[in-house]
Amino acid sequence: MRQLHIIACVKVVPKPEEVKVNPENWTIERDGVRSEINPPDMNVLEMALALKEQHGGKVTVVAMGPPMFDSYLRLALAMGADEAYLLSDRSFAGADTLATSYALAQGIRKIGEFDLILCGEESSDGATAQVPPGIAEWLNTSQITYAEDLKIVPDSGMVKAQRELAGGYEVIQVPLPCTASVKVGANEPRFMDIERKTWANAEGPVTTWNAQDIEVDPEMIGIPGSPTIVDGVAQAEATERKREFLKGTPEEQVKALIERLRPYL
Ligand SMILES: Cc1cc2nc3c(=O)[nH]c(=O)nc-3n(C[C@H](O)[C@H](O)[C@H](O)COP(=O)(O)OP(=O)(O)OC[C@H]3O[C@@H](n4cnc5c(N)ncnc54)[C@H](O)[C@@H]3O)c2cc1C
Repeated sequence: MRQLHIIACVKVVPKPEEVKVNPENWTIERDGVRSEINPPDMNVLEMALALKEQHGGKVTVVAMGPPMFDSYLRLALAMGADEAYLLSDRSFAGADTLATSYALAQGIRKIGEFDLILCGEESSDGATAQVPPGIAEWLNTSQITYAEDLKIVPDSGMVKAQRELAGGYEVIQVPLPCTASVKVGANEPRFMDIERKTWANAEGPVTTWNAQDIEVDPEMIGIPGSPTIVDGVAQAEATERKREFLKGTPEEQVKALIERLRPYL
C-alpha cells in the first residue's frame, strides 16, 4: 500500500509588529522587514509531523513566495519534514486568494499523489482564510476548516477532526484526500533538531519551481488572475491602556482590585 503523504502549506509572513503596506498598490512590503513562518503554519508542521510519527509516510512542505522563503523551508526540514517545494516566479506576485490557491494547487498536483493537505487557519498578513478552501476546490478534495485536532481513522480511508464553532465544537469525519485548515494553538510546535538543521541548510531537498514548471495558465496567476483589488487600508487608532499600581499589603491590594473589577461583573 502507498505510504501516507501529507502536504503542509507554509506561508512566510512579516512579523506582525513590522507589517508595512505599500500605499501605492496596497501590497505588503517585504524588503527590510523581519519575517517568520505564519504562526498557525507552525501548528500545521507539528500536526503533519505527529501524524507521520503515528502512521509513517512522508511530509512535504510547499510555499509560494520570493526566493528568500527558501531558508524558512529549510527550517521546516530541520523540524522533521522530508522535502520542500518553493513556487517562485515574478509572475506570481500580487496574487489574491484565488490566484494563490490555484498556483499552490498546481504545485501540489505536480508533486504527485497525496492524502492530506494541511494549511493554517489564516495568515497573519492577508488573514482571509480563503486559501485552504480554495485549494480543496481546485483539487476536488473533501475539506475541513478550523481543525483543533485531526486523526486518520485506521483502515478506513477517512480523517476525523474536531473543528471549532462559535461557542463549541463539532466532530466530523470525511474521506481522504482532504484539505484541512488548522487552528492556531492546536498543538505545541516542536523545536528544530540541531543535527537536522545542519543537514537541512547544507543539502536539504528544497526544489524551486517557476510558473512554467507547474504548468499554470498565465491568465490565472498573479495580477491578471486576481479579481480582488484592495481599494484601501486604514490604520486602526491605537488606544492607550490604563495602568495603575495598587498600594498596601497584598490583602489590601486584592480588596482594591476587586473594587476596581466589580463594575464589570
Ligand atoms: C491589506 C491586504 C488585504 C488583502 N485583502 C484580500 C482580500 O480581501 N481578498 C483576497 O483575495 N486577497 C487579499 N489580499 C491578498 C492576500 O494576502 C493574498 O492573496 C495571499 O497570497 C493569500 O491570502 P491570505 O494571506 O489571506 O491567506 P489565508 O487564506 O489567510 O491563509 C491560510 C493558509 O493558507 C496557506 N497559504 C496562504 N498563502 C500561502 C502561500 N503563499 N504559500 C503557502 N501557503 C500559503 C497557509 O497554510 C496559510 O496559513 C490582501 C492583501 C493585503 C496586503
